[in-house]
Amino acid sequence: MLQRTLSIIKPDAVARGLQGEILAMIQASGLRIAAMKMLRLTEAQAGAFYEVHRERPFYGDLVRYMTSGPVVCSVLEGEDAVAAYRALMGSTDPAKAAEGTIRRKYAQSVQANAVHGSDAPETAAREIAFFFSQTEIVG
Ligand code: UDP
Ligand code: MG
Repeated sequence: MLQRTLSIIKPDAVARGLQGEILAMIQASGLRIAAMKMLRLTEAQAGAFYEVHRERPFYGDLVRYMTSGPVVCSVLEGEDAVAAYRALMGSTDPAKAAEGTIRRKYAQSVQANAVHGSDAPETAAREIAFFFSQTEIVG
């Protein structure tokens, strides 16, 4: 099923100049980039984006990290894009991420793990609308 998902190249990866290499991996996997923008999240925006984790012990640190520098957000489109991109990213913990995944290659820690990807089609719809208007998604 043709589907869309939200990708974020997180501050640790942008700070190391890895956006080009990560986007190349995304495109090589067959996912199409349907929208893209670079921005720096405010504390309120990062807090709202990760609202689901508000009660978790790592929430405050996560919001600080996600606001520490610019991020590159994109909408990816393809067959089963949500699961396909989760597979390409690898596990949240880079130590557990499979060989050939973005996180295995580029993540520095469980927190600074280079990329975000939506975890379900409903989440993807909400996360895409968080960053992009209809007219910013092309093709
Ligand atoms: N995170 C963290 N500590 C943890 C678990 C998660 O700092 O123990 C951060 C990490 O950046 C992760 C994000 O919170 O990517 C969201 O966590 P989630 O469990 O949703 O992982 P993901 O969906 O990104 O793989
Ligand atoms: Mg998640």
